[in-house]
Amino acid sequence: MNETAPAEARAGAILTIDLTALVANWRRLAARASASECAAVVKADAYGLGAEASVRALAAVGCRTFFVATAGEGERIRAVAPRAIVYVLEGLPRGGARALAAARLRPVLASLEEIREWGAFGRSIGRRLPAALQFDTGMNRLGLALRDAEAAAIAAQDVDLTLTMSHFVCAQWTDDPRNARQIAAFEEARRAFPGAPASLCNSSGIFLAQQPHYDVLRPGYALYGGNPTPSAPNPMLSVARLEAPILATRWIEAGESVGYDGVWTAARPTRLATLGLGYGDGFPAAVGGAGRPAPEAIVAGRRCPIVGRVSMDFVMLDVTDVPEGAVYRGQTVELLGETIGVDELALRCGTIGYEILTRLGRRYERVYIGG
Ligand SMILES: *Cc1c(COP(=O)(O)O)cnc(C)c1O
Repeated sequence: MNETAPAEARAGAILTIDLTALVANWRRLAARASASECAAVVKADAYGLGAEASVRALAAVGCRTFFVATAGEGERIRAVAPRAIVYVLEGLPRGGARALAAARLRPVLASLEEIREWGAFGRSIGRRLPAALQFDTGMNRLGLALRDAEAAAIAAQDVDLTLTMSHFVCAQWTDDPRNARQIAAFEEARRAFPGAPASLCNSSGIFLAQQPHYDVLRPGYALYGGNPTPSAPNPMLSVARLEAPILATRWIEAGESVGYDGVWTAARPTRLATLGLGYGDGFPAAVGGAGRPAPEAIVAGRRCPIVGRVSMDFVMLDVTDVPEGAVYRGQTVELLGETIGVDELALRCGTIGYEILTRLGRRYERVYIGG
């Protein structure tokens, strides 16, 4: 491979991550609740977009608090943001207190057992160590039950409790009665911790009419361009752009099939363009189907559908309706970006935008711009 060749000449798909848009999204979310601190959820490699680059860009504009899923992810953040506050959402792994404390990570404690283990380790080194406490108000995933609030307050006397939190089940559906019920339950849990800072809002929670913003916001998806309000236009900027080169074009007759298992058959003489990306890059194999429209790519300004099964390294587009001379080998087409957002692509693939982002593959050539 020629290292000095332009990206287009290296044939693979290109993922461009716009750090200026990421930062603008963080500012936008922060501005919706200016009395609260806006943190950033950067778990799963910042939703697939790159934790190090994202954290550097966000820390540079004043983001001080980050949430990751695991201690391992936390150590990566610590390496690029030495002064940041880093919470680990999976909490305290059994026997993991020493490692967490050494990297100055704060577990999001989710049981009396975890609180006691963190407190005991703190006692053993003569320090109350900081941690968050998570209540489960309806997710039934991770977190203390409300009935344990008093016992948690007692167990937490050996812990420097820097945050109490809970997590919404469906804040993107603003009218769902569960949102109000969760807010009420969180209020009840908080009564056992007077004065402790609180955090309830993921991306969608920030947009709820009740404004349950509390002290710390925890957006993830919206930072990366996902729509936190799916029943209204997306208020966020697109962050990720995925482009792939056309490797070849061909005409086929009506009645010929395309791709593995021949599940798509041309109804008319059809011009195809073969792109150099596939499920081996994290592009969903399950496109269209079940009455869903197929995902599209933008070729010379026109939307063209993916036809046939997605291969490991290839997808085929129907480009019949694009003027003949406007489609050519080496041309770059866009599959995800400002026009085709992550929510649209997900809908057409029968999945959620979160999965589209976190599966963005290692094989893409990654280009970071702005910041
Ligand atoms: C992932 C996660 C978030 C961020 O949610 P988004 O919907 O991506 O904004 C916030 N809090 C917790 C506990 C999470 O697990």
